Amino acid sequence: MAAELLDGRALATRMEVGLRAEVDTFAAMFGRRPRLVVVLVGDVAASASYVKGKAAAAGRVGIDSEVVGVAGTATTAELVALVREIARGDRGPADGILVQLPLPPHIDTTAVLDTVPPDRDVDGFHPENAGLLSQGRPRFIPCTAAGVQRILIDAGVVAAGRHAVIVGRSDIVGKPLAALLAAKPPRAVPPGQRTCCDATVTLCHSRSADLGSLTRQADILVAAVGQPNLITADMVKPGATVIDVGINRLDGRLVGDVDFAGVREVAGKITPVPGGVGPLTVAMLMANTLLAAELGSRR
Ligand code: NDP
Repeated sequence: MAAELLDGRALATRMEVGLRAEVDTFAAMFGRRPRLVVVLVGDVAASASYVKGKAAAAGRVGIDSEVVGVAGTATTAELVALVREIARGDRGPADGILVQLPLPPHIDTTAVLDTVPPDRDVDGFHPENAGLLSQGRPRFIPCTAAGVQRILIDAGVVAAGRHAVIVGRSDIVGKPLAALLAAKPPRAVPPGQRTCCDATVTLCHSRSADLGSLTRQADILVAAVGQPNLITADMVKPGATVIDVGINRLDGRLVGDVDFAGVREVAGKITPVPGGVGPLTVAMLMANTLLAAELGSRR
């Protein structure tokens, strides 16, 4: 039987409705809307398209946004100075600051990201936020990892005591997701609210030996690599939940890291690409921007 399809687009739309109401409440209380400033360096079509999507989502939930475009020839020092300028408020209020990745190869990405003040770091990439997450007291959670967890929660997937195998160990996706799924549950969970944690987590990467023997153990399998068709049906345990984070262009269309047609016949639940994790990444960015504005209002 074909796996249940986990519709990330529909879930993101539902989240946006809730966020719109929360943003309107914030605006009524503080007389202004949360504001997100995005730095876009160079003219890479994919990055421009992601930034456009983020600005459109901000508009739908009532968050003000500005995209600051910078030439691809900018230096690390210029970008660091720009982020400082934005943080000082020289270009208007900035509750959330995001530098769209990837940056050109000549830029020291770490130096630029470390300049984003941790309490406005809506991507959750600053070491302070990574540290808080790893200690089980998250503030800004990287949006894709948070989005994957939200899809699992919404689908009623139980992680406690189960084996989650994540393929890909980047700071953006794999590592923060491993921290989320392996975490202890929050101390106070409101009645009726589900969590998705307490899993036993295996984090795989390019040096993992016999990847299939690891992925076949997964009750929850997450692919975050950037290689089309890396995960094939024979690598999946029957009934597993398969989350495909990958975004690849193949023969002019977008595909994930999972051989969707084959794996769909084995898995219990599966996300499509496009329409799976991507829309949740954007919705989580909006949630983080609102959180940043709320934190800022307490400063
Ligand atoms: P990175 O390139 O930073 O990391 C890729 C990871 O995959 C690395 O840990 C690498 O291992 C591992 N890897 C590479 N080849 C293999 C292999 N053959 N077997 C096992 N592991 C392997 O990528 P990102 O984490 O930034 O992104 C991953 C994918 O997710 C990309 O396709 C990206 O476009 C997509 N993405 C999608 C988002 C969304 O919203 N849906 C958001 C962010 C990313 P090693 O560490 O050893 O090099």
